Amino acid sequence: MSKQKINKLLIGTNNKGKLREIKNLLPKNIKIYSTSGFNLRSPIENGKTFKENSLIKSKYFSKKTGLICLADDSGLEIDLLDKNPGIYSARWGGRGGDFSKAIRRVYRELNKKDKNWKNKKIKARFICALSISYLNKKIACVFGKVEGQISDKPKGNNGFGYDPIFIPLKKTKTFGEMKPSQKYKMDHRYLAFKKIKKFL
Ligand code: IMP
Repeated sequence: MSKQKINKLLIGTNNKGKLREIKNLLPKNIKIYSTSGFNLRSPIENGKTFKENSLIKSKYFSKKTGLICLADDSGLEIDLLDKNPGIYSARWGGRGGDFSKAIRRVYRELNKKDKNWKNKKIKARFICALSISYLNKKIACVFGKVEGQISDKPKGNNGFGYDPIFIPLKKTKTFGEMKPSQKYKMDHRYLAFKKIKKFL
């Protein structure tokens, strides 16, 4: 019996940058829908984990539209900060999504924890939970992660969010210094997409 393939998919995000990135990662034979035609607000992300928040989004947007929906939830975990900002990564940028503010907060919190942190390796990782739901039912949920460390100062203007302060394992440049094409091939979102492809 052949598995029913998904040929129509809503991307559950109101973030245009994320929509573009996700579109690029999906097989070209799937018809992609965005939330913009439906005039929907984003749901309240009150889950306690990346997985819960991803499922809140994919179920919410699917129920509102009647389409199968793919949504992600991602963020940066810093070990010395007890895995913060974690699921609060977007919120540390404030309402306007000001990531220079979020990055200043990371450095402030690191200084509070350990004045000497710049001389240490501050382990961190980007995590992405990706889910597909149809109405209230989970079809799939997978994770991708990329391990690395926090740079002692922000470097590079590429990418978004915390990219200027994250150096992936075995590399010397931050994500902010890398070409987008180099980052996309190794980041948490790409790794999660590789795993979810078999459901598409
Ligand atoms: P979400 O929309 O709730 O998944 O928010 C994810 C937040 O995590 C973003 O706003 C960024 O702050 C951060 N983030 C996730 N992925 C990346 C990345 O690849 N680079 C930099 N920051 C990221």
